[in-house]
Amino acid sequence: MNVWTPYGWKIMRHVDTYIRKELDSTGHDEVYFPLLIPETEFNKEKEHIKGFDSEVYWVTHAGLNELDVRLVVRPTSETAMYPMFSLWVRSHTDLPLKTYQIVNTFRYETKQTRPFIRVREIHFFESHTCHASEEDAQEQIEEDIVILENIMKQLCIPYSLFVRTEWDKFPGAHYTVGLDTVMPNGRMLQIGSIHHYRTNFSIPYNITYEDADGKHEHVHQTTYGMSERLVGAMIGVHGDDKGLILPPPVAPFQTVIIPIISKGNADLIMKEAEKIKDMLISAGIRTKLDDRDERPGSKFFDWEIKGVPLRIELGIKDIENRAITFARRDNGEKGTISSEDVVPGVNMILEAICENMFNRAWERQRANVVTIDSLKVVPEMTLRFGWCGSEECGRRFEEENDLKLLGTPYVPEEFSGKCIICGKETDKAAYAARSM
Ligand code: ZN
Repeated sequence: MNVWTPYGWKIMRHVDTYIRKELDSTGHDEVYFPLLIPETEFNKEKEHIKGFDSEVYWVTHAGLNELDVRLVVRPTSETAMYPMFSLWVRSHTDLPLKTYQIVNTFRYETKQTRPFIRVREIHFFESHTCHASEEDAQEQIEEDIVILENIMKQLCIPYSLFVRTEWDKFPGAHYTVGLDTVMPNGRMLQIGSIHHYRTNFSIPYNITYEDADGKHEHVHQTTYGMSERLVGAMIGVHGDDKGLILPPPVAPFQTVIIPIISKGNADLIMKEAEKIKDMLISAGIRTKLDDRDERPGSKFFDWEIKGVPLRIELGIKDIENRAITFARRDNGEKGTISSEDVVPGVNMILEAICENMFNRAWERQRANVVTIDSLKVVPEMTLRFGWCGSEECGRRFEEENDLKLLGTPYVPEEFSGKCIICGKETDKAAYAARSM
C-alpha cells in the first residue's frame, strides 16, 4: 500500500475537484457507501464474482469472533450499491438515478506493484447510473465521454476510446469502453473505463421500476471509473529527464517565486517578492515564495523536479527594470513581464503552457499509431490492422505477439482490408499495443 505525501495528495485533490465539478454539473449526486460488503451480496452476479474472486481481500473476524457471513473489502462498488438501488428505484419518475463516489478500493495485485499504476489500495472515482431503457443508458455513455473530454483538457492527457474485446470486458458488463493513453515507452496505459451493463446487474439485484402503464421493468445501468492512474499518466506523458511537468490546472503551485538576493538588497527584494506573491494569490494563482536560505540554483533544481509550471525570478535588475523574469517548465522559454502586468501576464503564460502541453501530448498519441497489413510487430507503437472480429483470431494475435488487443475504436472508423490472422475480408480495424 502506498503513502500519499502532501505534494502528491494536492495533485490528486485537484484532479478530484475537476471530476466532482463535471459530475455535479451533469446531475450526478455524490454518495458514500460502506467499504465492507457482505459475501451474500457480493455473490449475486456470477460473472462479476468470477472476475474478482482472486483479487479481493476478506474480513473473516470481528473482534475475537469469526463472522458467519464474511465481508469483502470493496474491489469496486456494484455489490455494495445495488442492494440499496433496488430500494431507491420504485417508479419511472425515480429515473435516471445518477450517483458517484470517490473512495478507496482494494485489489490484491499479485504482480509487482508500481506507484499510481498498479496498486493494492486504489484511490478511485466511480459513477453508477440507472436508466429506464438501453437507449437512455447509451446516452449516459455519450455524456460520460463529454465529461472525459472536459477533465482531460485540464490534465492535458490524450486518450483513445476502444470497445474492449468480449474476453477483456469488465466482469458482468454488456460492453466496456477502455480509455487508453500512450506512455513515452510506447506502452498503453488504461486510465479508465466506461461500462454498459444492460440489465446484467439489475436482474440479480432486483432493481426494477414501474413504468407509466404500471408494468415492472428492470433498469439499464452504466458505470464509469477512473483512478490515481490519472496522476501516473500525467507524470509519464508530460515528464522529462529533469522531473515532472505538471499541467497548471492541477499543479499544487502554479508559480514559484525565487528571490535572487544580492549584497545589501535582501530587504528590498524580499519586500517586492512578498508583494508579487500576495498579488498572485489574491488573483487565485497558486503561488509559492521560496524564501529558504539556499542558493537560487538549487531552488531552481528542486522546483523543476516537482514540475512547477512557471518560475518567477526577482533580482535587483528586475526591480530596477520594473519587471519580473520568468521561465516556463514545459519548453524552457524565458522572458520578462512588466510589474504592472504581473497578474494578466502570468495568467496568459499559464494558459499557453496548458495549451502547449495538451497539443504536444495529443500529437505524440496520434503519431504513435501505425497501420500494418502483415504481422510485423513494432513493440513501441500502437498497431492498427484488420480483424475479422473472431475470438479465435484475436486471441491468437495476442498470444503470438505478446500484445494486448485494445479492441475496436468506439467511434467507428472507415476501414477495408483483410484480417491479419485468417485473411478474411473485413471492414473492422482493431488496435493493439504492449500494455503497462
Ligand atoms: Zn480472422
